[in-house]
Amino acid sequence: MAKESLMRAGTGADIELHTMRHSAAHLMAAAIQRLWPAAKFGVGPAISNGFYYDVLFDEPIGDDDLTAIAEKMKEIQKEALPYRRDELSVDAAIAEMNKLGQPFKVELLNLLKEKGSTAVSKETGDSDVVASEADGKGVSTVSFYTVGDFIDLCRGPHVARTSDIGPYKLSHIAGAYWRGNERNQQLQRIYGLCFGTQEELEKEIWRIEQTRLRDHRKLGKELQLFTFSPEVGSGLPIWLPKGTVLRDELEFLAQQEERRDGYQRVVTPVITKENLYYRSGHLPYYKEDMYQPMDIDGEKFYLRPMNCPHHHQVYLAQPHSYRELPVRIAEYGNVYRYEPSGALSGLMRTRGFTQNDAHIYCRFDQAKDEFLRVMRLHARYYELIGITDYSMRLALPDLAKLDKYVNEPEKWLEALEVIRAAMKESGYQYVEAEGEAAFYGPKVDFMIKSAIGTEYAISTNQLDFLATDRFDLNYVGEDGARHPVYVIHRAPLGSHERFVAFLIEHFAGAFPTWLAPVQIRMIPVADRHVEYARKTADFFTNANVQTGTGGLRVDVDDSSERMQKKIRQGQLEKIPYLLVVGDKEAQAGTAAVRLRSGKDLGAMPLERILERVRMEAEGRKDLVEDAPAQ
Ligand SMILES: [Zn+2]
Ligand SMILES: [Zn+2]
Repeated sequence: MAKESLMRAGTGADIELHTMRHSAAHLMAAAIQRLWPAAKFGVGPAISNGFYYDVLFDEPIGDDDLTAIAEKMKEIQKEALPYRRDELSVDAAIAEMNKLGQPFKVELLNLLKEKGSTAVSKETGDSDVVASEADGKGVSTVSFYTVGDFIDLCRGPHVARTSDIGPYKLSHIAGAYWRGNERNQQLQRIYGLCFGTQEELEKEIWRIEQTRLRDHRKLGKELQLFTFSPEVGSGLPIWLPKGTVLRDELEFLAQQEERRDGYQRVVTPVITKENLYYRSGHLPYYKEDMYQPMDIDGEKFYLRPMNCPHHHQVYLAQPHSYRELPVRIAEYGNVYRYEPSGALSGLMRTRGFTQNDAHIYCRFDQAKDEFLRVMRLHARYYELIGITDYSMRLALPDLAKLDKYVNEPEKWLEALEVIRAAMKESGYQYVEAEGEAAFYGPKVDFMIKSAIGTEYAISTNQLDFLATDRFDLNYVGEDGARHPVYVIHRAPLGSHERFVAFLIEHFAGAFPTWLAPVQIRMIPVADRHVEYARKTADFFTNANVQTGTGGLRVDVDDSSERMQKKIRQGQLEKIPYLLVVGDKEAQAGTAAVRLRSGKDLGAMPLERILERVRMEAEGRKDLVEDAPAQ
């Protein structure tokens, strides 16, 4: 009961915020019209953090003009103008908008008349523009709202008066094609942020600024982690030496954690004969996500979109008895999936990527515990990386249509109960989402949030009872008969590429010592200290420290720059340890320790520095929070 009323209150607040944001779009348009009477208006909906309006100006406006618009908005707010509603027949409305010189509104009205309101809101992306509660062809009446002398086609509702809006801030201008079609005229889309409180608004401004500063494409370039080459092709990331360190370390982490959990590692090819994909069902059902086949000696081979069929071959390489199960097979496996060029986005959407993948082959009576272990493995990774904000979603089939997913609905429900039991035992919070499941079984999706609150869909785990039928995956039971195995598909770190994009944003590029591409930089004060700096670098490089790259990563800045400049450069590169060495240090066998935050730890014996860095690198935990100055 209490829960229900709480939910209603939440929904009410959301509607109120949406109404205010949408009303703010009218307010901004009214201000624009006062400043540029000839401006032509497209659509102006509310969005998740504010509003926008698409406008065509005689002369394009610039960011400088946002201040003038905002000032004019304040002026109109002081007038506390009401939002007045009027109704007109569609034909009268078309005549009125023609008279006002608003061709886009005329076009919308004609569209409304021909196709109805749902079609219009779908096409424009604006659910408020529909202008009428009625739908279907031949909408006859439409509503208008007037603020001062700005008249807009709109369904409402709005706040009562312009003075009721705020706080808000105009954020930026972008280009937008009319009705989202690049063959149409390009308008200017003016964005505004709008929240219930000043504090929420400021938090959003901070988040947007941080998102810009932490953009993985920008930092990936600055920190020389990865690149894309037009010669190789878009969507195919090339990992540079420093970025490859991230891969080596994450793979090493996976090796260690999975070893603890009884996984065995394998390496399998990235191409395969077409028949394997008919057997797995990828062909023809998954064909759109796969690349065209290549011909090898008259046979068709495909680049693999998933690792599962290859891992099944590993399982099938020898017979298994009930005693050997579960068999857990892991690989840092490369896969290739088709993405349209317009969908590619840095490391977030690529055409080739690597999965921290594994398949667990188990008996039905082991499935719950195995799934639970997978959940706990996720939690271990997240704790280690400092991901505190994550959520899980159990995807259910559309239960009413279960027989459409698979012809054995009982098996489906049985698998679902196994997962529910594992989730319950884990104690982790999760939600259930109906109608989201894959056809071959229930799955649990993980979403993680970065330090600035961006959500990343990171991993999917499935309990699959169909692979058995397709691949004849069996074991010999105590009774000597063959029984089907259950397969758990899991990839806690998801796609390596997307995970690195997450890590870059999460740490703002200042990776903890264990992940940092360069962990120690030697900074000789003058040329005569270069030799000592090099010797010290060798000392750290050759120290016996367990890392994914086989030891500590150290370099020497032997450039002719001044010491202060070298320190600044090291900080820019977000290197955790900057070790300054001059006469005193060379004589005493020490180094002066500067952290990337600027913190000065003073001169320390090399052994003590080594112990400290070793602890951080092997323990995967920094001793102090050491965020660099932005
Ligand atoms: Zn409106
Ligand atoms: Zn799989």
